[in-house]
Amino acid sequence: MLAAGALDQDITYLKGIGPTKAQLLKDNLGISTYGDFLFFFPSKYLDRSRFWTIAEVEEGMPFVQLKGKIHQPEIIGDGKKRRLRVAFSDGTGTIELVWFQYINSILKNLKPGEQYVVFGRPAFYRFSFNIAHPEIELLSLAKPEKVEGFIQPVYAIPEKLKSRGIDNQVLIRALEQVLPLAAKSLSETLPDSVVQAWKFPPRYEALRSMHRPASFKDAEIAKRRFKFEELFFFQYNLVRQNKLAKKIDNGVMFANIGEHFNHFYHNLLPFELTNAQKRVLKEIRSDVRQGKQMNRLVQGDVGSGKTVVALLTMLMAIDNGYQACLMAPTEILARQHFLGISELLKDSPINIAFLSGSTKQRERKQLLADLESGQLNILIGTHALIEPQVKFKALGLAVIDEQHRFGVEQRAKLWEKSTPPPHILVMTATPIPRTLALSLYGHLDQSLIDELPPGRKPIKTIMMSQDEQARLFYFIRQQIKEGRQIYMVYPLIEESEKSDMKDLYAGFEAVAAAFPVPEFHVSIVHGKLKADEKEQEMKRFVDGHTQIMVSTTVIEVGVNVPNASVMVIENAERFGLSQLHQLRGRVGRGADQSYCILVHGEKLGNDARRRLRTMVETQDGFKIAEVDFELRGPGDLDGTAQSGFAQLSVANLMTDQDLLIKARNLVLEWMDNEDRFQQEIQFVDRIIAKHGSAKNSFRNIS
Ligand code: ADP
Ligand code: MG
Repeated sequence: MLAAGALDQDITYLKGIGPTKAQLLKDNLGISTYGDFLFFFPSKYLDRSRFWTIAEVEEGMPFVQLKGKIHQPEIIGDGKKRRLRVAFSDGTGTIELVWFQYINSILKNLKPGEQYVVFGRPAFYRFSFNIAHPEIELLSLAKPEKVEGFIQPVYAIPEKLKSRGIDNQVLIRALEQVLPLAAKSLSETLPDSVVQAWKFPPRYEALRSMHRPASFKDAEIAKRRFKFEELFFFQYNLVRQNKLAKKIDNGVMFANIGEHFNHFYHNLLPFELTNAQKRVLKEIRSDVRQGKQMNRLVQGDVGSGKTVVALLTMLMAIDNGYQACLMAPTEILARQHFLGISELLKDSPINIAFLSGSTKQRERKQLLADLESGQLNILIGTHALIEPQVKFKALGLAVIDEQHRFGVEQRAKLWEKSTPPPHILVMTATPIPRTLALSLYGHLDQSLIDELPPGRKPIKTIMMSQDEQARLFYFIRQQIKEGRQIYMVYPLIEESEKSDMKDLYAGFEAVAAAFPVPEFHVSIVHGKLKADEKEQEMKRFVDGHTQIMVSTTVIEVGVNVPNASVMVIENAERFGLSQLHQLRGRVGRGADQSYCILVHGEKLGNDARRRLRTMVETQDGFKIAEVDFELRGPGDLDGTAQSGFAQLSVANLMTDQDLLIKARNLVLEWMDNEDRFQQEIQFVDRIIAKHGSAKNSFRNIS
């Protein structure tokens, strides 16, 4: 038995890897130990399991492997055209091998008349085939497998490394040295029952098949095992974390539904809750009465009515002698919540306050005092809420809106405001695909408001080219005549980008010229305005004094003007799908037919076209999220960096959704039947304890 550390050795001990290469591997690929090599998997495989004859070579073959002799090496051309040309024949025909680089050193080593193994991509050029920069090796020196044929792993090596001598061959050679050590010191990471039930190869065998597969099928089977392993540990950590948190019986208990809740529900609530809202409220209710901390995510499309669900939960807190807070990512959104909730609670004795970075010192002092004495029941605000000076008498519930804009650490700071920690209700308006939700929010229980309040008409969505402005303005005029209001949104990637600001103002001027006072009034809002100016302009629009609101995406989240029924999005091709969806969600809130007009430039790229088409075709936020995810990949989505799943190295959340769900279900089954799966759970816990739970990727488990 080898010392446990065999795979922890530094890679400089490997033949073929000196200090310079070792440093490059470490800096660029994160490979510093033998074990790291093991888990740097090939990105693909080439079929070198058979040899071809030159007569069989055809156009379009991705690569061929040939056996034969070389003759007549000669250097021809000069300058950039200088090249080494060698004839290569195997008795069935002749093919040309060509090198444009390293000409002299290659020429020096070539042995005309000797048998060679040649591997490369054939190209058809001037009536004959040639292979540029083939891999070439003396048959007498080639390893047996090369003579018999094999499946060659191809490692994704950055150009930067290749140019400094770290090529595929270097990795293959390193693994030849490491794999035999792994055979002796690599331990199993999945319980036997799982390996058997899933018919996985044992861990070492799988690892060998990744690097030296006997067949493509073997490589496939091995890869599946590692994907599963990766997703399994990922989900295990998330689910277990949640489960353990629940076991701590020191959560706040909202035992009763009391007067505040009932009074609001029966007398103040201006509408009937949708079934989806009722269902989610029940889910919350059953969490908060247990004396264990709730950690629940409420997902619901724009306009699905998450706010009132949050409010009703806050009332549960207050009825049980606790305070509640609501944190939103932007000042505007936080303020909207404050105004909306204050309006709903105006006939109730509940004390509610707003706190943000711009709250004046005197006001803040009073507010903080009231919060600490328990005078204040509800505090709404921005991340100013998590500052240490903000102390609650008894915080029982923290609601976080648009959560993925907040980091995990910020959330944790809210927890610490109270012992036992408050219940956490996270609301997100950005629908995300299920697999992503499981990954990003796998540690949260999930609720879905999958129904919009009744009476909403579908929004008509239209694509329109920029040069149809006359038609657009005509339409807008019609709508205004019918008493409607219009949003016109311009992209502003960075509030500081001058050209974007110019677009916005040019747009505003064109609109103001086409819709002149006194008949029409146009508002303009953008992030550069002072908060009170912004508020003023918003208010003019909300109150109906202006008919058109020209703005940047500051209106993206939150605002609610039911009479605004047209959303015009200029340069729509520059917006991301979820942003377009959010913007469209601003209309369609009243009783009238609403429209969303996507104005685009002449040239539309494929992705942009797909985005706009998707908007025209569907209003289902989840479908839109799927397409968005497909187009952008998970890497770009907000919050993914901290989520840990950016670390996934073999599994792919798009293509391995099935496997993810299966891995998660397995974990859930164990957690629901802890007695029956005691052995398995202990086994996995041991593995994690040994290797550190932070490393939720299998990559580091050796
Ligand atoms: P979001 O889920 O996007 O945060 P809001 O909570 O802002 O949605 O609700 C959108 C609008 O729908 C608000 O004007 C709200 O008062 C209204 N609303 C919420 N629930 C219902 C309901 N069950 N019936 C009718 N209107 C509702
Ligand atoms: Mg909302």
